[in-house]
Amino acid sequence: MTEFLPRHIGTWGSDRQAMLAKVGVASLDELTDIALPHGLTRSATEGLPEAASEQQVLARLTELSEKNTVRTSMIGQGYYDTVTPAAIRRNILENPSWYTAYTPYQPEISQGRLEMLVNFQTVVSELTGMDIAGSSMLDEATAVAEAMLLANRVVKKRSTVLISPDVFDATRAVVQTRARAVDINLVESDFSEIDDTVAAIIIQYPGASGHLPELAELEEVTARAHEAGALVIVAADLLALTILASPGSWGADIVAGNSQRFGVPMAGGGPHAGFLAVKDAHKRQLPGRLVGVSKDADGSVAYRLALQTREQHIRREKATSNICTAQVLLAVTAAAYAVYHGPDGLKRIAETVHEHTVDLAKKLGSVGVPVNTTSFFDTIELEIPGGADRARRNLLAANITAWKVDESTIRLSCDETTTSDVIDEVVAALEDCGTQADMTGIDAGYPVSLTRDDDYLTHPTFHRYRTETLLMRYLKTLADKDYALDRGMIPLGSCTMKLNSAIEMSPITWPGFAKIHPFAPEADRVGYLELIDELESWLASATGYDAVSLQPNAGSQGELAGLLAIRKYHIARGEEDRRICLIPASAHGTNAASAVLAGFSVAVVATAPDGSVDLNDLDKKIEEAGDRIGAIMITYPSTHGIYEDSVGKVCAKVRDAGGQVYIDGANLNALVGVAAPGEFGGDVSHLNLHKTFAIPHGGGGPGVGPVAARSHLVPFLPSHPFTENKVTGSESAKRPGHGAVSQAPYGSAGILPISYAYILLMGGEGLRMATQSAVLAANYVAARLDKILPVLYRGPGGLVGHECIIDLRPLREETGITVDDVAKRLVDYGFHAPTMSFPVPGTLMIEPTESEDLGEIDRLCSALEKIHDEARSVSEGRWPADDNPLVNAPHTAASALVGEWNHSYSREEAVYPGVSDDALSDPAKLGTAVASKYWPPVRRVDGPYGDRNLACSCPPIDAYV
Ligand SMILES: *Cc1c(COP(=O)(O)O)cnc(C)c1O
Repeated sequence: MTEFLPRHIGTWGSDRQAMLAKVGVASLDELTDIALPHGLTRSATEGLPEAASEQQVLARLTELSEKNTVRTSMIGQGYYDTVTPAAIRRNILENPSWYTAYTPYQPEISQGRLEMLVNFQTVVSELTGMDIAGSSMLDEATAVAEAMLLANRVVKKRSTVLISPDVFDATRAVVQTRARAVDINLVESDFSEIDDTVAAIIIQYPGASGHLPELAELEEVTARAHEAGALVIVAADLLALTILASPGSWGADIVAGNSQRFGVPMAGGGPHAGFLAVKDAHKRQLPGRLVGVSKDADGSVAYRLALQTREQHIRREKATSNICTAQVLLAVTAAAYAVYHGPDGLKRIAETVHEHTVDLAKKLGSVGVPVNTTSFFDTIELEIPGGADRARRNLLAANITAWKVDESTIRLSCDETTTSDVIDEVVAALEDCGTQADMTGIDAGYPVSLTRDDDYLTHPTFHRYRTETLLMRYLKTLADKDYALDRGMIPLGSCTMKLNSAIEMSPITWPGFAKIHPFAPEADRVGYLELIDELESWLASATGYDAVSLQPNAGSQGELAGLLAIRKYHIARGEEDRRICLIPASAHGTNAASAVLAGFSVAVVATAPDGSVDLNDLDKKIEEAGDRIGAIMITYPSTHGIYEDSVGKVCAKVRDAGGQVYIDGANLNALVGVAAPGEFGGDVSHLNLHKTFAIPHGGGGPGVGPVAARSHLVPFLPSHPFTENKVTGSESAKRPGHGAVSQAPYGSAGILPISYAYILLMGGEGLRMATQSAVLAANYVAARLDKILPVLYRGPGGLVGHECIIDLRPLREETGITVDDVAKRLVDYGFHAPTMSFPVPGTLMIEPTESEDLGEIDRLCSALEKIHDEARSVSEGRWPADDNPLVNAPHTAASALVGEWNHSYSREEAVYPGVSDDALSDPAKLGTAVASKYWPPVRRVDGPYGDRNLACSCPPIDAYV
């Protein structure tokens, strides 16, 4: 055994024995032998590496990062070098208080990241000139695609969308994939004609070529689009908007883009926070998460996710999008960059970038290189007849990369890191490409009409933290408000909040990974490509599939990619009518939403009383669908956390009817090393590297959602326009073109070293033990709590998988205490609540993972037992139903200190519920409890109030008074 395994897994020796005894099995192997249905198990670790030591893993990753070549990137096309202030890198990107947090569904313990997301929304809405912005999209290309779908929902009965030829190629590719799937007719157009079949037009600002038109032109196109009843979608560059007229000011309805160049490294393509902002009229149609300002039980300002009823977890196939995991950590980083620089600093950066570009254009002109773009922000296009390759070679010799458009055209983009020296090197490198006489004196810049003249980011938050000391303290204050894995366990079912070890995290900010442009020449990305090939093959081995694509940048996108593969497979076989997708009632909300986005219609299959798929209803739905059945989408282990016995039968029935089987592999932490979806019936699956494979949740993203498939579907996995011609890639991306689902060929490549390190540190055997330890922990919790809080579903041998659902409905019947009360009371006990009311209302789903130790697991069980007793105290009349520590939870320090205490329970019971009477009366003993106490910054947050009074940017300061 290497030294890492006992660091990653939390239960060993006598603790493990005690847990096995409580569950009633003799060993980990016996546990999974009983829990898994016969015929499902595998012990193969074939194809997975032997565990390596921490030093060996670091050495291997160093070697890979050194195989990538860091150069001065002038490629642009949506990705720009930027300076991540060290204070932000260290205090956010490298700080577990930020990166190990979960999505802020429990607002009382998430005020810090919610505040930073409101800052992000403020930056985006003010710079774009829109009324309201969401709290992040997956990347720019998918954000534009979501904008198109939004427009299509708003402008009914029209199915044509016009797109400018001057948008990024990768954006066009993703938008095309998404349009085709739902029968939107995407047409490239110069907008000279906009008729009443058009739902929206898509403009890039500045254009992919760098070009900026006169304001009047933009206003004219916008006016004509509106006249025809179409919406105007603008893909915009956030940095450019600090000096250019906002799209809102010239009439845009929706603005999408990427915040990458606000301090987030290029990272081989991601992760970065895309953004989407809309006019007020469309706010309820906004896809993804939106943070709103509300108030808590004491009337204090409190943030929480707004308008959640629009989201996929409630609206399922009628949702505004399938986006679940977004890009919170990167949105937080970009917001901190804006807070640190403030509007003046941002403007200065933008002006400097622009001045360098002007300088570059003029100097190239003076040596006779024809510059196509004379009206621009940061990008110019050069015309060198037949000389694009030669120009790129010359630049490469000077350690500079450029973007080749065709044999005679290249583009150069300046960024925050561009210096005068770089400009001089470019000019020297391109001197022999000059074809014209000296063009000194060309008029270069952007039209005066486009100069931005309104104020933005006037809120004090963007003016207060100019010194590093102040910024550091602001970030610390925010992080202290939140509950992340650095405080205690986060037992969220279906989320797998396991250890994200420091060693796995360390490579992601190394320049050899962070400073690589996704479209850099293949020779400069050799390390990435090797890492990607190896990781893909390990994941294929772990899942029993033939191939894996790492392009999807969240689970939801993996679902979409997998379902699109199924649809294309049917179409290729002349069976395009196979467009019905069966989905069990208990499925994760993303499933139904993804199916719709892939062009399927959804038929729901009922759940049997034991929680499994109702086989009779399945027969009925298969018969009703007839030869229109396209697929079934099941989760394994099911979202009830059990290994259903009937999975083989379910797969066979659908396969016999001509459908394909999609197995949602987000719960792979119950399978790695013990069973493989590719072997027990799946045709295609996605997995979530941010759950099973140790990528941290980042407070709600980033994620990676690879899609894995059997050989007949492999030709239909995602491709990318640049992997076939301009930017060749690893084997996986050299497939025939079936459409891109992410802007970058390998999605969020920059965080793949985390999963790579995890697999290599654990080795095949270690991964198997992690699975078994996770299953043991869940079964231990089930065995301990069942007597008082019944476990709702059980599989073979009466066992559960890696998580268990405890039923709080009987407790509510008996005591009136709700699942919300229990979840909020857990905060007083120092816990993040388990998953609430999913997939069954009135229940909690607990997933302890393999990383928690027995002490922490017992602490959770004890807290739930005590809360159960407290609820009894209510039903027994010791506390009134409307004034007890449960309905009033959580308790802030202020609520315990300020004013008279006239509750039916004591202050101590309110804020130190887990602490013994003995300790409460002894200052020396209480000291320990006081020191480790988590204090929620707000009391219970009023969600409906915030939805009725929707406000999604920084609240005025007097709101806090
Ligand atoms: C987490 C999860 C998803 C969605 O993954 P995201 O990365 O959040 O998009 C889908 N299905 C199941 C069962 C999940 O647990």
